[in-house]
Amino acid sequence: MKRGALFLSILFLIILILNFNLVSAKTSCDVKDCKITITIYLAFAGATDSQINSWSQEISNVWNGNGQTTGDCKCPVNFKVNTSKVTNCSPMPAGYHCIQILPWNGTDASLPHLPAGPNAGKAVVAYVGKTTQSPSVGGASLDGEWSNITSRPVDPNDPSKGNYLDAAHEIGHMLGLADGSGGLMNFTSGNDAKPTQQHIDDAVNNVCGPNACPDKCCCGNGVIDNNKGEQCDPKANPRGCSLNDVCCPICCQCDLTRIQSFNLTYVPLGMFSNERINFYSNLEPHFHIITSNNQIIDAGKGKLENPTINVFSDEETINAIHDGEISFIQAMNDGRLIYEGEGFFNKIKFKIISFLVDIF
Ligand SMILES: [Zn+2]
Repeated sequence: MKRGALFLSILFLIILILNFNLVSAKTSCDVKDCKITITIYLAFAGATDSQINSWSQEISNVWNGNGQTTGDCKCPVNFKVNTSKVTNCSPMPAGYHCIQILPWNGTDASLPHLPAGPNAGKAVVAYVGKTTQSPSVGGASLDGEWSNITSRPVDPNDPSKGNYLDAAHEIGHMLGLADGSGGLMNFTSGNDAKPTQQHIDDAVNNVCGPNACPDKCCCGNGVIDNNKGEQCDPKANPRGCSLNDVCCPICCQCDLTRIQSFNLTYVPLGMFSNERINFYSNLEPHFHIITSNNQIIDAGKGKLENPTINVFSDEETINAIHDGEISFIQAMNDGRLIYEGEGFFNKIKFKIISFLVDIF
């Protein structure tokens, strides 16, 4: 086995293991195209549909309030809530956090009572960590008890004062945040009752792990980030390359000298019947082929002079095509693989091909 292939196999195994962990977590993380989505799976026992809707809305509004981003490359972070109704939280429904709703009858006795900690026995409107460790570590499941007056109006006589953000606060614990860590974790009403940047960063770090927003996510931000290893940026003006060099839109490099083979089996050659093609891959560029009448007449490592087409992709996409997970055309339609013809005629030709492909 080649060293490269061995490395890829190990990488694939690591990804499998990571995915397995994510599937079993109750707060999960998905990173795609440098966008981070954190999903909170939340089951309720004894809640009405309208309560569930209103709490979900609150959680979504509060946690997505300011178009949150994380990391030096400012990856957007989106929080989603996925709810379910169950009859009981014991046993815990698999794959969910679980909240038992207690009806309030005007007495403290009918409120949830903290089961442990320095304030054990204290009546509260809502808490999590009944039989589980709170805050959640790595998105692990939490159970808890909420009164049905959770997120009640701040002033019943003045709706303009809004509601307490109890539900959104409890979600903070499911994201791994502790009481007293500022913002929403200190206040559930008033101007400070919102997540801080530190909360967003900590939540992503807790649920997604470190480096969820890697340096490559700066590529395409319109700035040439020299400290992230970028030679150019396709959206910067000037782009940063000499006139003869293209700025790779995925790797932000002008001069691609490192070499990676590209499996050609999955490329529909009919599309590239008489061309001089350079392939660029995100981490380890690049490879070229020359085709004539649908045959590859020459192939090799390194960049061709005077190419007719440049194909750009990233290693993940190339591996997915290689493994048959997605087709070349799918990758193209999803924008994971970008090509550009050099010269006017090729641009027209490839526009027509894109159009035809769309019909399927
Ligand atoms: Zn709390």
